[in-house]
Amino acid sequence: MNRCYEQPEELLRRLIQFDTTNPPGNEIECVRYINSLLTTAGFETTLLEKYPKRANLLTRLAGQGKAPPLLFYGHVDVVTTAAQTWSYPPFAGMLADGLVWGRGTLDMKGGIAMMLAAILRAKCEGFIPAGDIILAILSDEETGGECGSKFLVEKHPEQFTDARYAIGEFGGFPLYFAGKKFYAIQVAEKQICWLKATLRGPGGHASLPMRGGAMAKLGRVLRQLDERRLPVHILPVVQQMLETMSAVVPAPADAMLAQLLDPAMTDQILDKLGPRGAMFDPMLHNVVNATIVQGGEKINVIPSQITLALDCRMLPGYGPADAIAEIHQIIGDEIEIEVTFSEPGPAAPVMGLFDTLAAILQEADPGSLAVPLLLPASSDARIFSRLGIQTYGFLPMNLPSDFNFVRRIHAADECIPVESVQFGAEAIYQLLQRYTGIEMNA
Ligand SMILES: [Zn+2]
Repeated sequence: MNRCYEQPEELLRRLIQFDTTNPPGNEIECVRYINSLLTTAGFETTLLEKYPKRANLLTRLAGQGKAPPLLFYGHVDVVTTAAQTWSYPPFAGMLADGLVWGRGTLDMKGGIAMMLAAILRAKCEGFIPAGDIILAILSDEETGGECGSKFLVEKHPEQFTDARYAIGEFGGFPLYFAGKKFYAIQVAEKQICWLKATLRGPGGHASLPMRGGAMAKLGRVLRQLDERRLPVHILPVVQQMLETMSAVVPAPADAMLAQLLDPAMTDQILDKLGPRGAMFDPMLHNVVNATIVQGGEKINVIPSQITLALDCRMLPGYGPADAIAEIHQIIGDEIEIEVTFSEPGPAAPVMGLFDTLAAILQEADPGSLAVPLLLPASSDARIFSRLGIQTYGFLPMNLPSDFNFVRRIHAADECIPVESVQFGAEAIYQLLQRYTGIEMNA
């Protein structure tokens, strides 16, 4: 083929062959490979690293200056494959059965391959976008971004001056519901709020009877947290998602989705939907899970104090005080709760680029509908939001309905259909062409 750029699936296979398991990461060789592709194609690049072997790469496809820069970012580190049994070696970049196999194919070297293919193609074809396209290849997303997104945002914010929109991971994959196909585009995410509850009671010698002590309170608190959800909250972004879906799915699913938006009905409908509604539950509530218990030192001493670590994930617009008040409603006021770590995110998404992204996907896959997604976890989007940059999860993949995307991430036999990598590269290329900057006023 007479091409001056590579096919995205071939790029992906090469990226998989660098073992960037984090920890330790060692992203440098993978980043150097990407650097060589870009410089060969005529890009100027900048490598920035907080620690040796933990490089980040930045480059720009120069635009016409008619629009603010648009940021494409993604991470090249991956999670461990230890104790997993794979059908193909996880770092071989095997192509079999129309799929590329290996750690990172979905999360997210597949996305990096799509972005690289799109930007190399634009350069090769001489296409000049309305604004600069900034490409940021990051290290260290999987263990918190200290050497990656946080390092760049804190130490090199000048690299992102004037950028207001970005695309990154967690979005552009299909959700199948009641026989309809939707593409979820992440526009918002939950905020981490880690808490510590302290339970107190009389201590003493374990040879004597004890009722109602700290251990008994622990049992009661754990049961209460297991039995009840925190209160329902309907955010505009979730309303938009559910209304869009409700309008096109057949009965009775249409009414059920609509009823999720009535706070008096929400929990009842979630119970009725069961596993089919599991993805909506964390979008409609702050969520808390008890994860660590500490208490008791000796077999014959009744502890007078037990601490319980609570991992709470708050909806945008809510703060730690709201979460604590909601938890007190369930477990009572006498238990002390304090914040051990919290990371605030933006209160609401900026939706200006959404319609452009939705149109690209709906045209590429006729009959599908794009919906905004609130991610129940957190991503590098929260870090870039500190610079006023709104991230959209947009790594488009037209996966078949029997391909369980979420289950394959971080798991054995992570793989991606070749067709999906090509679909994503084309969609991102479309974005690069259609981005005009007028989205800023939307
Ligand atoms: Zn990822």
